[in-house]
Amino acid sequence: LSRSLIAIRHLDPNTIRDLLELAQAFRSKIRNGELLPSHADKTVGLLFFENSTRTRVSFEQAAALLGCKISAFTSAGSSMTKGETLKDTIMTLSRERINCMVIRHKASGAPGFAQPYLQGPIVNAGDGQHEHPTQALGDALTILDRKGKIKGLRVAIVGDVLHSRVARSNAWLLDKLGAEVRLVGPRNLMPRYPGLLPGKVGNRLEEGIEGADVVMCLRLQNERMSEGAIGSVREFASSYQINEDSLRYAHPDCVVMHPGPINRGVEIDDATADGPRSMILDQVENSVFVRTAVLHYSFGGGSL
Ligand code: ASP
Repeated sequence: LSRSLIAIRHLDPNTIRDLLELAQAFRSKIRNGELLPSHADKTVGLLFFENSTRTRVSFEQAAALLGCKISAFTSAGSSMTKGETLKDTIMTLSRERINCMVIRHKASGAPGFAQPYLQGPIVNAGDGQHEHPTQALGDALTILDRKGKIKGLRVAIVGDVLHSRVARSNAWLLDKLGAEVRLVGPRNLMPRYPGLLPGKVGNRLEEGIEGADVVMCLRLQNERMSEGAIGSVREFASSYQINEDSLRYAHPDCVVMHPGPINRGVEIDDATADGPRSMILDQVENSVFVRTAVLHYSFGGGSL
């Protein structure tokens, strides 16, 4: 049995809960130095066609914790620079005994497109503006740690929602688990068809984060932005930056999240990023446990 993870949108709430529970179980075993299930017969291909620090390293760690062999692949050093297509690349790697592929790609839909060309599971490590499912799972685990629940929480996702796969995966996950999702940002950075994504859309930060238990900042995705989408970075920061001043409107116990990499002084200021409300490094740490759980699940593994 092999199971891919391409998008949160298609998961049912029970599968999401099971994955979060599995990640918690892996976390306690890893922290206690206990023996983990071994997938030493598996080779995981890490196909990062777009830059990454956190996600690539955490998938590497996760695969190593499960005893897998790792074959790392970047487009820069590959035959893709000679014009090979994604389809041919995947078919080639699948004959080279890669059992699972973790794919990061700048094109939305690339991991789903690759699926028919590999016998084994595919895990989406972030595709264009589409989804970043393991990020949302790591974020959910972090919220659970701090708030003890997800249902009923008010979560504001702030900034460049239009270009953000993190916003999409989080909106789906949080909505499925019963949170109240709000999408907040300038009109030009909001989804074109907001009805297709769960969450209430707003353009005023004060209203969007009013009473919020969780404020999720998003990086301005300059690499995906068309010219003139926002007036200037300074203007954006003055209306949408998360800092102690803007957080006056949120719940007094609100926590602040950011998927990284952070543009300090743009979507979040230094004091908040490094302050007691910040969950940024917990998100990073939890993503290792989540990715370990997801790889185990993708090989058909059950609860521990
Ligand atoms: N690291 C996240 C991603 O790959 C967020 C970002 O790049 O802004 O989507």
